[in-house]
Order: sequence, then structure tokens, then C-alpha cells
Amino acid sequence: MVEKTEVLVVGGGQAGIAMSEHLGAAGVDHIVLERGRIAESWRTRRWDSLVANGPAWHDRFPGLEFSCDPEGFATKDEVAGYMEAYASQIDAPVRCGVDVTGVTRLEGRPGFRAETSAGVIEADYVVAATGPYHNPLMPKLVPDRPGLTQMHSIDYRNPDQLAEGAVLVVGAGSSGVQIAAELNRAGRKVYLSVGPHGRPPRAYRGRDYCWWLGVLNDWDAEATPGAEHVTIAVSGAEGGHTVDFRALAADGVTLVGRTEACTDGVLRFAPDLPGNIAQGDRNYLAVLDRADAYVARMGLDLPEEPGARDIAPDPACVTDPLLSLDLEEAGISTILWATGFALDYGWLQLDAVDAQGRPAHLRGVSDEPGVYFLGLPWQTRRASSFIYGVWHDARYITDHILKRRAYLAYPGVPA
Ligand SMILES: Cc1cc2nc3c(=O)[nH]c(=O)nc-3n(C[C@H](O)[C@H](O)[C@H](O)COP(=O)(O)OP(=O)(O)OC[C@H]3O[C@@H](n4cnc5c(N)ncnc54)[C@H](O)[C@@H]3O)c2cc1C
Repeated sequence: MVEKTEVLVVGGGQAGIAMSEHLGAAGVDHIVLERGRIAESWRTRRWDSLVANGPAWHDRFPGLEFSCDPEGFATKDEVAGYMEAYASQIDAPVRCGVDVTGVTRLEGRPGFRAETSAGVIEADYVVAATGPYHNPLMPKLVPDRPGLTQMHSIDYRNPDQLAEGAVLVVGAGSSGVQIAAELNRAGRKVYLSVGPHGRPPRAYRGRDYCWWLGVLNDWDAEATPGAEHVTIAVSGAEGGHTVDFRALAADGVTLVGRTEACTDGVLRFAPDLPGNIAQGDRNYLAVLDRADAYVARMGLDLPEEPGARDIAPDPACVTDPLLSLDLEEAGISTILWATGFALDYGWLQLDAVDAQGRPAHLRGVSDEPGVYFLGLPWQTRRASSFIYGVWHDARYITDHILKRRAYLAYPGVPA
């Protein structure tokens, strides 16, 4: 028995649910297949205390508000619950516990054949909504040694999970800084390896950064071709606050530069810490400058906040950074790599993926006609991999499917 549908959506996270909403509204027959549960990543691939990086009024879909305080930051379980409620509100045809293991072209006719753990499905269109973060990236810089555990942030849950001893957290994006702060609060000695980053204000002149991103058109910023992605350190933890590396240092965290190598149990760090901190400050102050210019231009009555420009002096660990660290002498029992993820589209055996396994696409429309991506970082713009942005990209992909459908039906084309 081969089941048929017009659109097969693979993945039942926020991207798959958003896709289902738009397809459903357009009356397009579709199925969403999810190997785990709805929003599985929010349930099992995040640490226990994680809350959303954006306030609840913002990090949501248009059709439903969070039940928590709109100015607050939803917990990871509240986000998962929200997605589940949304799926049921729109009556999304999600089938959980179904793994898509392969998608190939149908021979001699349009469409695709999906092999799944629950049988074969044929579809005219396939949307890969399997998320922006697949396989954890852990640079092979530190050889394994007795007494040292190396783990990726995806496997971190809480401080009690780690063996006693000091921790080196590598990576100072949103995950790394939040995990380092949590471990430090739990009484661990923490070293935080800080690379290039942006650290926008959590809020300025009474408005959250998510609002500023909206009015300054930055959610819609496109990726600069060839430019290296610079991680952003933001946090909704403890009610939300601006990430401040100097405050972390004052609380006892030792900041170090980029982790470069490890020989004979001695870690080596790049001498780039002062430069990375200074660059992060410039990024922070540039947001304030643009926000002030916007307030003046629009004549807005938002309270001035001169104190936001006060930046404390650099702590000793920044002015005279450690360039090496003996793992044993420092008592480091865990290295926690908060170093990002690689994509894995092994199940998509089509021209939608290039020779290096990367999605071959323009704004989510892949090189394989009829196959789409959704939820990729910077797929169309900065917002693409976030709850707010994926909803808009899903609308774009749905429109594209409707246009393509009209061309395939030919005579009067415009749909
Ligand atoms: C630590 C962390 C914090 C974040 N915080 C925020 C935040 O506060 N606000 C925000 O907007 N964004 C945040 N993001 C970014 C983004 O919102 C999340 O990564 C989100 O989970 C992405 O949703 P998605 O639907 O694209 O992918 P996912 O949530 O990963 O969903 C993809 C789904 O596809 C399923 N799947 C994968 N392969 C298959 C297959 N072959 N067959 C069937 N099913 C499959 C998976 O089980 C998964 O459920 C955060 C990301 C991380 C890592």
C-alpha cells in the first residue's frame, strides 16, 4: 500500500507546524511526519533551565499567545506545550513517531517517494522542516584523557550532571554564556572561552531587543555573502538581562580567548580575548546608537537611558588573558563545547543537497524542483530559524508551491 499526499512535510517542530498552518489555510492536502513528538527538540535537546531568548509576546506565532506573562520568557517546556497546542488549534495532520529514512524521485513521473518507518508515501512536494541544528559540532582539539569528559551543549542538562571539578565552556554564544553562568552560580570554577560575538542589549529605553530588531528592520536582514557568521549572545534567563562578560568575570568566571589546541594536557588559547570583548562592545553600542537615532527620527517618547552606555573597566582576565592552562592543575573535569551544529540531510537523496551535503537552495526553494527547506539559519533572513521568522518563511514556501502547482496545471496559470 502506497499512501499519497500532495505535500509531505518532514519534521514536526515549529517549522513543520508553521508549514502545516499555511498549507491548511490554502486547502493543500498534506501530512507532517515527526520522528519523535511535536517540538521534540525543545523537549529533549535543550538544558533543563532553558527559557526562550525572546519575550513571550514575540517568540510565538500570530494565531496564539502564550499563557505565561507576555513580557516574560517561556520555559522550554512551555514552548513545547505551545507548539503542541498550536498544532491542535489548527488541526495539523501530524503523525508522531514516524521517521523518514529516505526520499527519492519517482521514476518517469513527477513527485517523490518517501520511505518511512510506517511505510511508503508518495508526494508531489516535499518540505524538509527538520530544523537548523542536526549533528553537534565538537572540534577535535583536545585528545581524550582519563578524568576528562567532553560533551556538547546539546547533552548538557544541569550542573549536577557533571563530575566534580572545574569546567571549561568553549563558545560564548547564547548557549555557552548561559551554561557558564549557571555552572558558576552552582559553585563550579568556570573558564569561558570567548570568540567573536555580538552582544546586543536585552532591552533599551524600555523596549526589548526583539522590538528593536523589528523596527530597525534587522529581523529582515539578509546574510552577507561570504561573511563569516558571528554568534550572538542573548539571554532570557533570570527574567532576561544583557549578556555582560565583565559581570561574569566579576562573579568569578575566568574568561579566555578562543581555544586553539591542547598538547600534553595543556590547553592553548588565542590572544584574541581583548579584541573579541571590544568587538562585542562595539556591536552593543552600535545597537544603542541606531536605537537613539530611530527614537529621534520618529519623535518617540521613550525614556532616555544614558546608564546603558556605562561599560565597566576590563577585568584582569581580559587585560592579561591566560594563553595556556594545564587541565590537571586547573582541576578541569569537563570541557563543554557550545560550538554549534552541522546539518545532516542524509535522508534526502536528491539534487536538493550539494556534494558537501549542504542544502542547495535559494530562500528555501531547492535546486530539485518540488523540494523545499524550512527553518534554516538565514534561509531568507536573520529571523528564519526563529519562531517568529519561520512562520513567515512557511508562508513564502506555501505561496511557491501554489505558484508551481498552477504552472504544472498550465492553461490559465496565475493562481
Ligand atoms: C539552545 C537553543 C535555544 C533556542 N532558543 C530560541 C528562542 O528562544 N527563540 C527562538 O525563536 N528560537 C530559539 N532557538 C532556535 C530555534 O527556534 C530552535 O532551534 C527550534 O527548535 C527550531 O525549530 P525547527 O522546527 O526548525 O526544528 P526542530 O525544532 O529541531 O524540529 C525538527 C523536527 O524534525 C524531526 N525530524 C528530524 N529528522 C526527521 C526525519 N528524518 N523524519 C522525521 N522527523 C524528523 C525532529 O525530531 C524535530 O522534532 C533556539 C535554539 C537552541 C539550540
